[in-house]
This record gives sequence, C-alpha cells and structure tokens, in this order.
Amino acid sequence: MDFAYSPRTLELQAKLLKFMDDHVYPAEAKYEAEIAANTAAGKRWTPLNTIEELKPKARAIGLWNLFLPPTAGGEGSAHNGRDFGLSNSDYAPLAEIMGRVPWSSEVFNCSAPDTGNMETIERYGKPEHKEQWLVPLLNGKIRSAFAMTEPAVASSDATNIASRIERQGDHYVINGRKWWISGAGDPRCQIYIFMGKTDPEAPRHSQQSMILVPANTPGIKVLRPLSVFGYDDAPHGHMEITFDHVRVPASNILLGEGRGFEIAQGRLGPGRIHHLRPLMT
Ligand SMILES: Cc1cc2nc3c(=O)[nH]c(=O)nc-3n(C[C@H](O)[C@H](O)[C@H](O)COP(=O)(O)OP(=O)(O)OC[C@H]3O[C@@H](n4cnc5c(N)ncnc54)[C@H](O)[C@@H]3O)c2cc1C
Repeated sequence: MDFAYSPRTLELQAKLLKFMDDHVYPAEAKYEAEIAANTAAGKRWTPLNTIEELKPKARAIGLWNLFLPPTAGGEGSAHNGRDFGLSNSDYAPLAEIMGRVPWSSEVFNCSAPDTGNMETIERYGKPEHKEQWLVPLLNGKIRSAFAMTEPAVASSDATNIASRIERQGDHYVINGRKWWISGAGDPRCQIYIFMGKTDPEAPRHSQQSMILVPANTPGIKVLRPLSVFGYDDAPHGHMEITFDHVRVPASNILLGEGRGFEIAQGRLGPGRIHHLRPLMT
C-alpha cells in the first residue's frame, strides 16, 4: 500500500503547521489567562475571544471545515470556493496537527462533537434541518451536542440506553437523564442530537432512534458539568442534563424510528479519525 500523503494533504499540512506556529502556540498563554480572568469574574462558561479572534484568520486561508467532504460544504466545496474536498485519509494527518493543542480544532471549525453532529445532520437530516442547524454550524456561529450516555445504564453498550422518545400526535415526547454531554456547557450550544428508545419491544438493535432537540425546548435542565481528572473543560463542558416531557415536532426524527444504530455507525466511523485527542468522540 502507498502510505504517502497526497499533494493536497502536504499543502494543507504546511499551511496548518505555519498557522499553528504563527497564531495558535503563541495564544496558549492568552487562552489560559482568559479562562482565569473569566473565572475570577464569575463568567467561567463564556466563549473565549482567544478562539473567536483566530477563526476568521483560519477561514480566510481555507483552513475551515476541513473534516467535511465537499458535498456538505467542506473545505473543497463550492461553498468554500474550491473544487475538491478531503477524504478521511487526507484529513487524519491534519487532525493530528490540530490535536497538539487541545482547543485548537475549534479555530478551524473542526472540533468535537460538532464535526460528528454536522456530518450526521448532513447525511440524515431533512433540508429544513440543514437550513436551520447545519448552515450556522458550518459557519461556526452555533455549537451542538450529542446526548447518548446515561448514568443509570452501562452506556458503552448503547443498546442499554433507556431514555424514551414517544410519539404523541405530531410530536415526540422525550424523557431521560443524560451525562457526559460534551459541549452542552457552551452558551452557544443550540441543538442536541438525542438518542433514546422509540420501541422497547423491537429487536435489540432497532429500539433506538436519534432526534434533533433544540437546547431551549421547555423541560430541559442542564444540571452540572462533570470533571475529567479534575478538569471541567469549561467553557465546553461535559454536562449532566435531564429531559422532562420535552416535546419536539415529529419531523425532527433523523432517518426514521429504530434507525439510531445505523446513524451511530455513520457518525462514529469518521469521528474516531477526526479526534485523536484521547476520550473525545
Ligand atoms: C470526556 C468525555 C466526553 C464524553 N462525551 C460524550 C458526549 O458528548 N456524549 C455522550 O453521549 N457521551 C459522552 N461521553 C460518555 C462516553 O461515551 C461513555 O463514558 C462511554 O461510552 C462508556 O459508557 P459508561 O460511562 O456508561 O461506562 P460503562 O458502560 O458503565 O462502563 C464502565 C466500565 O465497565 C465495563 N463494562 C461495561 N459493561 C460491561 C459488561 N457487560 N461486562 C464487563 N465489563 C463491562 C466497561 O468496559 C468500562 O470499563 C463522554 C465521556 C468522556 C469521559
């Protein structure tokens, strides 16, 4: 097999390495100082200017949405004024460079869990979902979260996920408790992809569905951030959230009832390549 990097990857690697040298590494101290100042001012969960100031610079030179194929408005798409996009093997060496600074992938709109969520909406969302959620996500204007893991069950086997998504007329009603929901601490987080059971009697791998849940829907409570080795990862956060009779339009279901595992395979495959940071999905 030929493991050589493609010419496109080599070009982007050089550009990305230079951007890291010129802008990201010099901003590491500023990032830490900004979080410390925000915390002291009681604003620990405020998005960081350090990152926001770098985004337009990265976007201006084409270092933006590198993870997406061109069909979805990725680096190579007409959306970005170019004529070809990146395969996963072209993208992985770039993710490796971004992974050197834990927060840098957001500068390039390539951060978890938004990348997986954008791909999910791109592949399985309806045109109106793309308009409402994918476009602002691609533009880095809003953030998103993926709500699967639950405190009450061993969630590493996702067939155990027990939250309910029940059809009532033109709506689904959602009940459950989730935790470790990354990115839900960010005040810009406007949309969750929620996993739960639509039919507990169906065959084991057809019980789960995924549905889009706007973060401001009544009945949602973000309770607290969990910590990883003592760090809460503010202002991103890995949150515990309750969903109490949360009603969303029936059209928010992705792909159809019982197809949650089909979507999960589509989402997690690339996700493993995109985020080389340990623990991040
Ligand atoms: C930093 C971080 C970010 C995360 N972000 C998200 C997110 O954005 N969204 C989200 O939904 N989740 C997220 N998660 C949760 C993550 O996906 C789960 O922690 C993971 O899937 C494991 O599930 P669990 O915590 O329920 O552990 P469990 O499934 O309870 O597993 C605990 C231990 O028991 C073992 N075990 C489980 N079942 C068995 C069995 N039957 N027999 C023997 N051993 C077993 C496991 O191997 C493991 O060692 C995040 C987690 C972390 C740490």
